Amino acid sequence: MALISEVAEKIYEIKPEGNGPEVFPLCTVYLVVDDQMALVEVGSSVQIPVILDAVSRLGYDIKELSYIIPTHVHSDHAGGAGHLAQQLPRARVVAHPRAARLLADQSIIDRMLQSRRAVFGDDADERFGGMLAIAEERFVLVEDGADLDLGERQLKAIHTPGHDPNHLCFMDSKTRGLFCGDALGGYFSETKSRMPACVPGSDPEVIIHSIDKAKQFNPAMLFFSHGGTTADAIRIIQLALSDERQCADTALKALKAGEDQEKIARRLAGILAKESDLTPEEIRVFPNFTTMTVEGYRQYFKKKNLL
Ligand SMILES: [Zn+2]
Repeated sequence: MALISEVAEKIYEIKPEGNGPEVFPLCTVYLVVDDQMALVEVGSSVQIPVILDAVSRLGYDIKELSYIIPTHVHSDHAGGAGHLAQQLPRARVVAHPRAARLLADQSIIDRMLQSRRAVFGDDADERFGGMLAIAEERFVLVEDGADLDLGERQLKAIHTPGHDPNHLCFMDSKTRGLFCGDALGGYFSETKSRMPACVPGSDPEVIIHSIDKAKQFNPAMLFFSHGGTTADAIRIIQLALSDERQCADTALKALKAGEDQEKIARRLAGILAKESDLTPEEIRVFPNFTTMTVEGYRQYFKKKNLL
């Protein structure tokens, strides 16, 4: 089941139930209705029936969908894009050119699924669904600054690497809301809890640069893909900037001191708990911490020869 609400004019949030990081790796998706209808994020392919149900409950016909817009290639965002594109032959998939190349290649997708199994266990494919390659001709390729015209509104693509090199955020011209994917991490307003943006393959310095770039657009709202919508946009962006800096500094010091993954995860949970209603223990339950965020920092600092 999903929680469905209109969070801005003709923007519908379709959010997995749960009010904290425990819902990861499911993804919040957004239906944007205009002359052309778009779906920002698809999530894992197990989410597709939920999305189809939500769209029909909102009174729209999914067959009218023009654009499927995963913000980046990670399987919890783009995992269902191939399956949905197969069901909707009229729809186009909007992506950065480099992301499109990855999403069109089944051997790369199989490697992504393999690393998902390494993180979430051997039954990850059953729990979250498979992932299909998308034929090249189905893509609309967009780069930084491109406007996707939906009719009365445009979605401006903003290249925001760091979390993932080919990540795009999209700014809605009508509401000045920013679909931020994972560029700023996640944010659950119910518990005021943030998820950090750093995972294996991320560049923590570029993450900060991209959050700063998003801030320059002065968004009025943020549509998070892990978590939901907040109108407290600038404060949350500032919080993301300070958290990401503190987490990176703390992780580097702790890794240099030879601390184990658990201890470092606890330190990061302490930083993220400060502004949240959750305790560090509640935040740490979230698997991203122990297995992904600390590992992301370790790999990055190692690559930089800082460890
Ligand atoms: Zn991601």
